[in-house]
Order: sequence, then structure tokens, then C-alpha cells
Amino acid sequence: MTGATGGRLGLRAAEPAGSRQVYNFTLEELTVYLQDLGEPPYRARQIFQWLYQRRAQSFQEMTNLSKGLRASLASALTIGRAREVTRQVSKVDGTTKFLLEWPDAVTVETVLMRHDYGNSVCVSTQVGCKMGCTFCASTLGGMIRQMTAGEMVEQLLFSQRLLDEQSQRVSSVVLMGSGEPMDNYDAAMKFIDIISDEHGLNIGQRHITISTVGLVPGIVRLADEGRPITLAVSLHAPNDALRSSMMPVNRAYPIAKLMEACHYYHRVTGRRISFEYALVGGKNDSLQEARELAELLAGLPCHVNLIPVNYVPERNLTRTAKDQIYAFWNELKRLGVNATIRREMGHDIAAACGQLRAEHANRG
Ligand code: SAH
Repeated sequence: MTGATGGRLGLRAAEPAGSRQVYNFTLEELTVYLQDLGEPPYRARQIFQWLYQRRAQSFQEMTNLSKGLRASLASALTIGRAREVTRQVSKVDGTTKFLLEWPDAVTVETVLMRHDYGNSVCVSTQVGCKMGCTFCASTLGGMIRQMTAGEMVEQLLFSQRLLDEQSQRVSSVVLMGSGEPMDNYDAAMKFIDIISDEHGLNIGQRHITISTVGLVPGIVRLADEGRPITLAVSLHAPNDALRSSMMPVNRAYPIAKLMEACHYYHRVTGRRISFEYALVGGKNDSLQEARELAELLAGLPCHVNLIPVNYVPERNLTRTAKDQIYAFWNELKRLGVNATIRREMGHDIAAACGQLRAEHANRG
């Protein structure tokens, strides 16, 4: 069903000359690039300010650069290449979901969520996903291609531009859209470096969360690199039999290995891990499973996010009844587990990852 998008893959041309994306540069890379043009280092900072603080959309606007430099940048680099295909705004809570399309005809979703503590943006790291989780819409058509760091930056800027109209800013970012960020590790980290740069959007790394299906090598690498971001692990089941039936990745990285990596991450970084647990009716939501989960997490400083599963038309999912969600939550709390029930954002606009994209592909 995402075939309409995937089918065009073969036609995807290599990046034409003159279309290098300026959002794909870290400040350091831009400094080096400009040095090669004979420009001083502060030039890169000026350009970062134009791009990320003044939200410039053309080099012509950058009036403190010489005309000659503006022209040569404009002929060598592009500023953004995504087009907004459609947007949905929740009447309930203002959650805004954008469907964006790039010149090679791939589409991804990005979502702006408004909380009382600030505005958070959910970014997609891949077009589609190859992880195959049985409850997820993003993976239905497989993985079409990676998103570059610059394309993730672009996603974020759609939300920031909307917030500009109300003099607000994006205060936190979650890498929880379509795709597996640890399967696109370098681009995901580069994206984080670009958006956290103090000369640019200046989003504190402590306000950035990366969510993974549980790719152990990525978790270990993240621990070793020491970025102070928050790690969220999609657990969804407390034992291997159940987890493997929901998440094929569990066959490669079973729970014992995953927990070992999580303990390592905590030892090295001192940071508390978030675990996501999507409650699927009759599948993983019994009190017995709550007890197994508490046992599994004992001794690891962490937080569990209970997520009432989002309805996906192609998936035969039952939602856990409200009473049972609370019973599961209470059981976890009784056993000393730090847990919250995730507030549903924009449930009137099919906010589950991949659904708008899938709907669009079906129409097209
Ligand atoms: N690949 C990464 C990040 C993207 S998915 C990961 O797996 O963590 C973001 C979160 O949404 C994950 O926890 C994922 O398991 C969850 N998710 C996917 N489909 C869902 C659905 N139908 N209902 C609720 N949560 C879902």
C-alpha cells in the first residue's frame, strides 16, 4: 500500500549538481566549506544565524554577506527541498501533522505537539521502516530510503515556521517518527548536532529523545559517545516469546542482550532510560505481564511509558480497555516501577506514525 511511493524508487536520480543541501552541514562543516571559498570562520556562524534564527529561505536574504558570496552559495547549495503535501490539525489539542514530499517523490510525516511545558516535534528518520513490528503502520511498505540529517532538520523547520507565527519555539524533539534511528545512526546524530548548535536552533540535547526498537550496537555506541540525550527503548513485551511475536528484531537482539545494553548505558551515562510499552488488548496487557515487566526492570533506573496502542487499519489490533490500562499501571507502581500513561495527542487526526502517509499513498 505504500507501493505508490516505493515504486518510484527506481526512478530516483542521483542528487543533481548544484543541489547540495545547506541544512545538511554542521557548523564545523560549513566553516570548512567557506574556508575553501576564502571566507573567515565567522561567516559560517552568520549563515547559521540566518538559516536557523531568522529562518531565511534564500541566500539573497543574507544581506551581511557579499553579493558575490550569496550568488556562489545559491548556485552550489539549496535551502530546503521538501514540499508540504498536506497538513492535519487536531481540533482537540492543536497537534499538527505534516506530510512532506521530497523531489524524488518520497513522503514522510512529522508532527508538532503542544504541551503545557512547551512544543515538541516528532521527526522521521527513514522513509518507511524495515523493522517489521506487527503493530506499526510505518513498516508496512518496508524501508524506501534513509532520511539525511538535512532532511530531518527540514522536517523540524516546518513546525518551527508555524510556531513563528505565534512567537513560540520548538523546545524538544523526539526521533520517534517513521524509521529506526539506530539504523541511520550517523545521520541521526548529525541532525542532533545541527539542531543543538548554539548558533542555530539551540535545542538543548537534554530535550532530545531518540527512540529505538532495541538495536544493541547502537545503544552501546550512544553510551560510549556520551551525548546527553534521552534514550527511549521500545520494549512492548517482558519476555522473548511475546516480544519476538510482536517485534522481529527481538530474534537478533533478545531481551537479555537488550537489557545488558541498557544497564551498560545507565552505568556509562548515569542517565535514566525510558521504556515504551504499547498496550495491545489481550496480547501484552495482563497483570502477569505487568509483574514480569517489573521483574525485568528491577534495579535499572528507568521510566515506563504506557501507550494505548493506536489503531492501524491494516493491523488486527484490539485496544486495551481503560480499566485494564489503569490496572496494569497500578500493578507496575505497586511493584515500584516508575510509570506513566502517555497522554494521547491528536487522536482525532490519526496521529499514529505512518497513517497519514499510508492514507495518502492509497489515494494516490
Ligand atoms: N523505530 C523506533 C522509533 C519509531 S516508532 C522505535 O521502534 O522506537 C515510535 C514508537 O511508536 C515506538 O515505541 C513504536 O513501537 C511505537 N508504535 C508503533 N506503532 C504503534 C501503534 N500502532 N500504537 C502505539 N505505538 C506504536
